[in-house]
Amino acid sequence: MTLPEYGLYIGGQFLPAQSGQQEETVNPYTGQAWARVPQADGRDVDAAVRAARHALDEGPWGRMTGRQRSKLIHHFAQILARDADLLGEAETRDNGKLLREMQGQCRILPEWYEYYAGAADKLHGETIPSDKPNFFIYTRREPVGVVAAIIPWNSPLLLLTWKLAPLLAAGCTVVVKPADQTPVSALEFARRVEEAGFPPGVFNVVTGGPVVGAALASHPGVDKVAFTGSTAVGIKVGQAAMGHLAKVSLELGGKSPNVVFEDADLDAAANGVIAGIFAAGGQTCIAGSRLLVQASVHDELVRRVTERARTIKLGDPLAHDTEMGPVAFRAHLDGILRRCERGLQEGASLVTGGRRASGPGLDDGYFVEPTIFTDVQPHMELAAEEIFGPVLSVLSFEDEPDAVRMANDSRYGLGAGVWTRDLQRAHRAAHAIRAGTVWVNSYRAVSFNAPFGGFKDSGFGRENSLEGVGEYLDTKTVWVELTGATRDPFTLG
Ligand code: NAD
Repeated sequence: MTLPEYGLYIGGQFLPAQSGQQEETVNPYTGQAWARVPQADGRDVDAAVRAARHALDEGPWGRMTGRQRSKLIHHFAQILARDADLLGEAETRDNGKLLREMQGQCRILPEWYEYYAGAADKLHGETIPSDKPNFFIYTRREPVGVVAAIIPWNSPLLLLTWKLAPLLAAGCTVVVKPADQTPVSALEFARRVEEAGFPPGVFNVVTGGPVVGAALASHPGVDKVAFTGSTAVGIKVGQAAMGHLAKVSLELGGKSPNVVFEDADLDAAANGVIAGIFAAGGQTCIAGSRLLVQASVHDELVRRVTERARTIKLGDPLAHDTEMGPVAFRAHLDGILRRCERGLQEGASLVTGGRRASGPGLDDGYFVEPTIFTDVQPHMELAAEEIFGPVLSVLSFEDEPDAVRMANDSRYGLGAGVWTRDLQRAHRAAHAIRAGTVWVNSYRAVSFNAPFGGFKDSGFGRENSLEGVGEYLDTKTVWVELTGATRDPFTLG
C-alpha cells in the first residue's frame, strides 16, 4: 500500500529533509505504518530557524499591526473549525486516542485563536509617572522573537495551539517540533496555516525525534523555547535553552491527586475518578493517577470505580462507542506493564487489570486493561512516578491534614481534584494543595481563558489566559528627556 507522504514546512514550502531520510508513523491500533514523514536533522532545523528569523525581521509579519495579525488569526480559526474533524482523525491514527476525544479537542481549537485574535490589538504598554523631573517614561510590549515549540504526542494540536495562538497574537514566529510518534497533524496544520495567508516563515514544522528537538532547543537563533513533555526531557530542554540564554517555559509531567472526602457525593466522585484516569487511557498530563480517599469510604468508592472500570469498552479508537483505545506506541505499552509488575513486587494489591488486554479486535493494538491498585504506600513507585497510562493508585487517608499532606507528598504539582460537599473544606484544601490547577467536585476541565501550568517539577510558565500571551512578550522601557538640558554625565539619574 502506498502511504501518504508529507514534507517539512519551512519558509512557506513543503520540503523533503536535507538528508533525504523518511520515517514511518505507526497507527497504534493496527500496529501498521500509515504515513511517511521526513526525518529532519540539524540542517533543516537551521533552515527553519533562519526562515522564522527572516519572517520576523524582513518579511511583512514583523511590520503588521495587531489588528492585521488579529484578522489573520480569526481567518485561521474559521479554517480550523471547517477542518476540525479531519485533523482529529489524523491525531487518532497517530496516537490511538479516541476519535471523539481528538475531534472534540480539534473542534475547540478555534476558541483559542478567537480569544487571542481579540488580544492581538490590546497588547499595550503603560506610561510611568517619572520620579525625576522632565522625563516621559513609557513601556512597549514587543514579541520575544523566534519561538521553538516542542510538543508531546498525547494532544498534539491542542498543546501546539496553547503556544501558537498567543505567540501569533504577540507577533512572534515559530518553529514547531511535534513528537516523533505523532508528526502528521502538525504537517496537516501547516496546510491550513498556508491557506489562511500567514506570510512564509511565520510558522515552520520540522519532524523527527530527540536529536531534532535538542538541535532546536540549543539553536542560538531561537529566542524562546516553549516545551511540553516529560520532566526528564524538560530539564534537558531548559538547560539547552539556558546555554544560549533563550527564555523558556516548561509544561511537564504530573502525578495528580484526586482527593475524595467522606462527605463527597460518591457517585460524582467515582465518575470524576474514572474521567481522571481512564479517559484518554490515562495519557494526559493532568491524569488523576493518585486516588486519595478517606478511610471511611475507601471500600465503597473503590467498589464503584472498579465496577465501572471493568465495563470500559476497549476497541478501535475510530469507533464511536469505544471508551478506551490503545496506548500510543509499543515501548509505552511495555513501560506501563513493567510499572504494574513492579507495583505488585512492592506489595500493592491489584484489584483489576494489570495486563495487556487481548480479545477480538484488540490483539494487534497496544491495549492495557484499565488497572486499579489499592494498598499503595506513598514511598512506592506506583504513588511517586508518572505512568501516563490507565493505572490508578489508591491511597487511604484519615483526616483533612493527612489528605493535604499526602496530596503534597509528590515532586509534581500540576493538577488536583477535591471532592467534598463542605464548602469551607473545599476552599481550604484547594488553597493548601500545591498544584497549578485544582478542580472542586469536577476534574479535567480546561479553557482558553483560565491559566494552566505547573508547580514544582511540573514546570513553570503559564499557558492560556492573558498570562499566556505574556510568555511571548518582552517589555521595553523608553525614557524620553523633555527639556534638552545638559545633565551631569558622571551621576546616575
Ligand atoms: P517527551 O518528554 O518524551 O517528549 C516531548 C517532546 O520532546 C517530543 O517532541 C520529543 O521528541 C522531544 N524531545 C525528546 N528528547 C528531547 C531533547 N533531548 N531535547 C529536545 N526535545 C526532546 O514526552 P512525551 O512522551 O512525548 O509526552 C508525555 C509527557 O508529556 C508526560 O510526562 C506528560 O505529563 C507531559 N505532558 C505535559 C503537559 C502539560 O501541559 N504540563 C501536557 C501534555 C503532556
